[in-house]
Amino acid sequence: MPIFADTKQKNIANFQKSIQEKKNTIRRNYDEIGHLYYGQYKDINIDCTKDINAKCDAITRLNEEIEELEIKILRERGLKRCPVCRTENNLSYAFCFKCGARFDDEDSVPAPEAVKAEEPKEEPKEEPKAEAEDTEAEAEDKAEE
Ligand SMILES: [Zn+2]
Repeated sequence: MPIFADTKQKNIANFQKSIQEKKNTIRRNYDEIGHLYYGQYKDINIDCTKDINAKCDAITRLNEEIEELEIKILRERGLKRCPVCRTENNLSYAFCFKCGARFDDEDSVPAPEAVKAEEPKEEPKEEPKAEAEDTEAEAEDKAEE
């Protein structure tokens, strides 16, 4: 088996593992929300609204992260998902083959090659942009805490 395909499989396996962990964390959060809510129900003096909301926010964040990982898995397989009808399309398509929706290239372009290849890309502005997004996300994370 070529090394390239091996790496792909490995990446996919890692993404899937990460998704599974996040799903477990989501389940734990649901569980804790249930306990908190029940505590409130039993004792009117207890107010866990803040904790419950924080856990709901965590679930939302985890679901977004899972979505991102699913997109990465698709990308490893040379696919992307239509934002309108959710149909899987070839990564190179500019329009969804099913519903005809246009793919926003800004969103769908960061391909696995961007990470793997060291050589300069056709659109060099992509790399700094990806980094800027990372920093932004980190800043957001900090702001939320
Ligand atoms: Zn579509």
